[in-house]
Amino acid sequence: MKQTLKNMYIKDKRVLLRLDLNVPIINGNVIDDTKIVKSLETINFLLKENCKIIIMSHLGRVKTEEDKAKNTLEPVKAILEKYLNKEIKFAKDILSEETKNMALNLKSGEILLLENTRFLDVPEKLESTLNDNVAKSLASLGEIFVLDAFASSHRSHTSVVGIPKYLPNCIGLLMEQELDMLNRTILNPEHPFTVIMGGAKVDDKIPLIKSLLPKCDHLLVSGGIANSFLYALGLNVGASLKATDENIIAELKNIMLEYKPKFAFPLDAIVESTYNKTPALKSINKIDSNDIIKDIGSKTIQKYQDIINSSNTIFINGTMGVYEEKAYRNGTTEIFNILKNKEESTVIGGGDTISALNNLGFKNTFTNISSGGGATLEYIAKNTLPGIEAISEEDKIETLDL
Ligand code: ADP
Ligand code: MG
Repeated sequence: MKQTLKNMYIKDKRVLLRLDLNVPIINGNVIDDTKIVKSLETINFLLKENCKIIIMSHLGRVKTEEDKAKNTLEPVKAILEKYLNKEIKFAKDILSEETKNMALNLKSGEILLLENTRFLDVPEKLESTLNDNVAKSLASLGEIFVLDAFASSHRSHTSVVGIPKYLPNCIGLLMEQELDMLNRTILNPEHPFTVIMGGAKVDDKIPLIKSLLPKCDHLLVSGGIANSFLYALGLNVGASLKATDENIIAELKNIMLEYKPKFAFPLDAIVESTYNKTPALKSINKIDSNDIIKDIGSKTIQKYQDIINSSNTIFINGTMGVYEEKAYRNGTTEIFNILKNKEESTVIGGGDTISALNNLGFKNTFTNISSGGGATLEYIAKNTLPGIEAISEEDKIETLDL
């Protein structure tokens, strides 16, 4: 077990807090502040302990000097100020003497927000390529390091894995909750355990599928993932999105050979044709070479519903079809509707899956949502992440045998 915030002595300390404040911003406006709101719990906890808080986060992609203007954390500062009802100091030049003085002169209950850590990547990649000197200099701003950025913890970046080497450290409240939820549900599932894997490319998902198959009782496939497995079985999936690389196909065949009884495949599909854009429902064994599979059909939904209803744990990643297009979002919507009745047993993970959830009208329907995107999938596949590895183990209280 990793060291947690509640077990640390933090009163009045200068705490360097790595958050995930990577929110979508359009023309300087934050269009979804979910990540900021979630981060308030740890910030408020630190404020109650009279800490001096130095907050760090990345935001967007920063590859050139021009990328900086649209990826400043200033709009995030304004929202934090609104929710916390207090002024926040802002340090534009992260590694400057001025920033260091601002940090060292903070009073109890004051907050300093550092500019986007990815600004350190231009001109030299000082954030995304782990840099020990920069880690040391960032560490000198605080007395304790708290990692509460689960969604960034699969990256070996300076602000995530570099700093804890130089400071007493722990995970934050959000990260603790997120790990508890995933450990309780997916790593130790109540059976029958059903995994629903949809989405686009199978290549990215093979490690996840391989780690889940020994644990789950059923694997329901859909989207590009299903197309690739069906294609590996020798079925015609026409012009649909699928894996074609020989090595991947061979790997899919091996996976099916070992776990065939656990697999559930689509029975039907909504297809578009390369010469006719009108959606058509077809049996999965009647797909012809011009068809593009874009969603699952009603027989598949029924079959998957029966399996979901008899399950005690369900994990879903990836959408059932191309939900971005109106004509092909029925499968995803219906599966979410079915899962609604199993809300307590359902865990949802993946960046696009959560976007789909929000866009299709299920925004506040589910509780067990893992916010991590790529980090969630990697954590499930490997049971750890570089960011978690960098954090100290919990102190063991030794009982003396007197
Ligand atoms: P996550 O980001 O949550 O891991 P994915 O990116 O794997 O999820 O899945 C969502 C994407 O999968 C969507 O962009 C959707 O359009 C795509 N997708 C789903 N089904 C199909 C399909 N049959 N053909 C092509 N793309 C698909
Ligand atoms: Mg995706």
